[in-house]
Amino acid sequence: MVSQGVSAISANPLILGGTTEATALCRAMGEAGLRGTVSFAGRVERPRRQPLPQRVGGFGGVDGLARYLKENAVTHLIDATHPFASQMSRNAVEAAKITGIPLIAMTRPPWVPVPGDRWTRVPGTGAAVSALQGASRRVLLAVGRQSLQDFAANPQHFYLLRVVDPPVAPLPFPDCEAILDRGPFEEPNDRALMQRFAIDLMVSKNSGGPAAYAKIAAARALGLPVIMIDRPPVPARQEVGTPEAVIAWLSHGATDLGV
Ligand code: NAP
Repeated sequence: MVSQGVSAISANPLILGGTTEATALCRAMGEAGLRGTVSFAGRVERPRRQPLPQRVGGFGGVDGLARYLKENAVTHLIDATHPFASQMSRNAVEAAKITGIPLIAMTRPPWVPVPGDRWTRVPGTGAAVSALQGASRRVLLAVGRQSLQDFAANPQHFYLLRVVDPPVAPLPFPDCEAILDRGPFEEPNDRALMQRFAIDLMVSKNSGGPAAYAKIAAARALGLPVIMIDRPPVPARQEVGTPEAVIAWLSHGATDLGV
């Protein structure tokens, strides 16, 4: 546990969440006796229970976020969103500038290929869709619910999806299966899943971090090709990699830690 100073105890941070890492941060802050609020977009029906109070839903762009920060006397803004939640991250940078509220992002490095990986890196979802043109394949589509519609342009494939909530609308593919699972995922289970559905290609976002790495290791073990979508760019901001570093930042009055 990190010991915290007076500034951390009196701080009223807002954590932009929706990730395993944000949940770990909330737990660490709760254990350290710190207060704060965690914010969810509301994409998941039942977000994991958090040890800190939570709010749900968009703020209404940069101005809405800036207004929320002021009205709720937020002292620190912590961006612990997913690396592909780039709109929220851009809004956080802008709102921090407008309000003068210090911002830190808790980030995880992207995955890098290791021997045995068969990755084709593409710059975005559109490029991944283009890379799927051609003969019918059996595809594990690990891109999240919001990007599914883009892949409807290639209806010739079988698609295996993994989703947290049951789909509310028909899936946009003639041949697909959706597995309900929110993890944590293990490599042997993901390997067995790929074998059960005779998957011969995976599409993944380069999310980074350990929580979703099982499928990458499973694809390697099976010698499967992976279309790996690179992260979208986000503006420069102060970044750290662990809950302890965020708590240290709160404790030091949000000065630049040289990170
Ligand atoms: P996004 O495209 O960057 O954000 C779109 C809009 O959703 C934002 O402008 C904001 O609306 C609202 N929003 C996003 N995150 C929010 C949060 N934590 N609290 C309140 N409002 C939020 O984000 P996204 O990719 O849709 O991701 C949404 C959430 O899912 C995030 O919390 C992210 O951490 C989580 N997530 C995303 C992915 C992914 O692959 N994108 C994967 C796992 C988890 P307003 O402009 O109205 O404020």
